Amino acid sequence: THFGFQDVPKGEKARRVADVFHSVAARYDVMNDLMSFGIHRFWKFFTTELAGVRSGARVLDIAGGTGDLAARFARQVGSEGEVVLADINASMLRVGRDRMVDRGLGHRVRCVQANAECLPFPDDHFDVVSIAFGLRNVTDKDSALASMQRVLKPGGRLLVLEFSKPRSELLSKAYDLYSFRALPFMGRLVADDADSYRYLAESIRMHPDQDTLRDMMLQAGFDRVKYHNLTGGIVALHIGYKG
Ligand code: SAM
Repeated sequence: THFGFQDVPKGEKARRVADVFHSVAARYDVMNDLMSFGIHRFWKFFTTELAGVRSGARVLDIAGGTGDLAARFARQVGSEGEVVLADINASMLRVGRDRMVDRGLGHRVRCVQANAECLPFPDDHFDVVSIAFGLRNVTDKDSALASMQRVLKPGGRLLVLEFSKPRSELLSKAYDLYSFRALPFMGRLVADDADSYRYLAESIRMHPDQDTLRDMMLQAGFDRVKYHNLTGGIVALHIGYKG
């Protein structure tokens, strides 16, 4: 099955993304650890440390899935704050809600089914909005960035953690080999689902590189946009502010 983006109509892409996440939801956390050798934990730690969330803050984690970021934010905001874990996919959200309860944070995190392209929250509401490994799955990224900008308070910040472009040729070659050969193989072996993991590799390839995403954020109205390359640019964390 070919899961590339450019050759499929918009609604079709959304449907395929939904199928992928319905099918991986139950095994998502374990596959994340396996396929990134646990490094995704470091990328997320770095993100929540840089987010600068204060006690009492309002935070939205969109495309939050099983809630790794939301759980960290819930500890940072304390009992006065508000954390919303939002995702378009009911299966992922269900696993996320269960994980929150398991972590003893069920009362602190509100789970909302929502599309990043048209967020169902008031204007100027959140201090911090984050999206981790989610933007590449969104069909209309410009609408999503505009929607995130709308729900942020003036002075609030957006953090986008996403696969990006490796900085060196050598790393890029090794990474290609890993994601196009090893990932689908492991996907078949562990989850009996090579297609979902082939989709993952392809979606990573088509995602905008560091500078393109920075320009898209500027275009959406964010100020002072900068990024940090993590693990040689395999992943980048972009940060921008609502003026
Ligand atoms: N943020 C989590 C993490 O870092 O582990 C989950 C990332 S997972 C790779 C991508 C998530 O994006 C899935 O849960 C999927 O349902 C969600 N997603 C895809 N398209 C979306 C959209 N348009 N709006 C909101 N969430 C979306």
